[in-house]
Amino acid sequence: MDRRSFLAAVPATFLASPSRTLKADPFTLGVASGDPGADGFVLWTRLALDPLGGAGLGGMPARDVDVDWQVATDERFTRIVRSGTATARRSAAHSVHVELTGLEPGREYFYRFRSEGRLSPEGRTRTTPAEGAETPLAFAVAACAHYEHGYYTAYRRLAEQEPDLVLFLGDYLYEYGPSGYTAPAGRVRSHTPGKCATLADYRLRHAQYKSDRDLQAAHAAAPWLVAFDDHEVENNWAGPVSSTGAPAFARRRADAFRAYYENMPLRRASLDGARLRVNRRVSWGRLARFHLLDTRQFRDDQACQDGVRAGCDERLSPERTLLGDGQWRWLEEGLRGSPARWNLLGQQILMTHRDYRTGPGREVNLDSWDGYAPERTRLLTSLARTSNPVVLTGDAHMHHLADLKTDFDDPDSPVVARELVTTSIASDGDGYRDSAWIAESLAENPHIAYIDQRRGYIMARLTRDGLDADFRTLDRVSRRGARARTSHQVTIPADPGA
Ligand code: FE
Ligand code: CA
Repeated sequence: MDRRSFLAAVPATFLASPSRTLKADPFTLGVASGDPGADGFVLWTRLALDPLGGAGLGGMPARDVDVDWQVATDERFTRIVRSGTATARRSAAHSVHVELTGLEPGREYFYRFRSEGRLSPEGRTRTTPAEGAETPLAFAVAACAHYEHGYYTAYRRLAEQEPDLVLFLGDYLYEYGPSGYTAPAGRVRSHTPGKCATLADYRLRHAQYKSDRDLQAAHAAAPWLVAFDDHEVENNWAGPVSSTGAPAFARRRADAFRAYYENMPLRRASLDGARLRVNRRVSWGRLARFHLLDTRQFRDDQACQDGVRAGCDERLSPERTLLGDGQWRWLEEGLRGSPARWNLLGQQILMTHRDYRTGPGREVNLDSWDGYAPERTRLLTSLARTSNPVVLTGDAHMHHLADLKTDFDDPDSPVVARELVTTSIASDGDGYRDSAWIAESLAENPHIAYIDQRRGYIMARLTRDGLDADFRTLDRVSRRGARARTSHQVTIPADPGA
């Protein structure tokens, strides 16, 4: 339905003349939903009359604004099952988070907002299946969307596939100022001025990203499960440590978290003072349980001054942690107690070992799990006892399909799980598929079956019998309108004994 015929279907009561009016459309940042459960989900919007307007506050009047919301079981909103009013507070950059409960499991819902006579676009979302159900699941995996590096056509293509769920694994935005990090082919558009350092900067950057229509389409198509990686705060930060020695980093991190929460469909409990909790579990009936990890906030600083390096013994120290004690225990309990047939770990950084040096000797990325190798071995040992584990990863700006093993140097070491790494939505620009470098990388790393450096996302279908995943790629993001193609496919059959 186009917007005009949609508006015609709006009951008069939802557009009744308000006592106050906003001077322009406040829904310029779109709508979103997230963190579904069997009886509800989070609805999100943030009001901005002018997304790039003053101090990250979107040109909104200096007051709180009421926002009405509706949830319906049909696209025309003739069967409205819930409605209410929330307050978009100026202190929260006029963001709105509505947490619904008491809805029916395993069904599609539609939602929209209204404020002072203006109506939002509508979004589609869903509740998860009832406990015990083995309803199939279609989900997309995405990460890394540098605004300057390319158009968001991959978000548009993902939306067109109408997944049940979108898993977003970090680098939703980048903190750099204009051309602070350039793709090989340059930039197609510019960041707002300056590197993000203050709450106002992060709010403004989120507003810029959220203004993109392709991104808005992806949010409106399905509920998202989001987790941040580094660039939502600063490149390669680690726990309390800034990679650039940024002054007052604790403050900066807290401000970045606050802006992230304000702009994402997260539950209120996610924001806990200066901390943002994104490690959480979401179940899809008994078919699957997602275990979302936070591989940034609780980690020890990178070994050997970070980077891609050879000969770093510190990375092999069993004292070092990536997940932190609390999250480690939480994950162990969650894996051990999981009733799900499939256990899907959603996490940020490459888990497979990857040797970046061709021929003798090895170089590894110390920001990835290779920099925390003993904890990886412990995790893979746990996954070996888990029902149908699959690891889903972002960060790499390349599709990878890898076998995870407790000993990557031993060809006979059994495969504990498969890792599906999604490429970026836009980061690093158009990219390439075939190159001598990719061929050498595969030869150097026999446990990796596929690498593709173009832009895209993963689209997966899960049933009790297997996981089918399509690695989707686009020929270019330097111009709009590219098609998405399946460049590689993998089927992972369920373990018959599980
Ligand atoms: Fe990235
Ligand atoms: Ca080597």
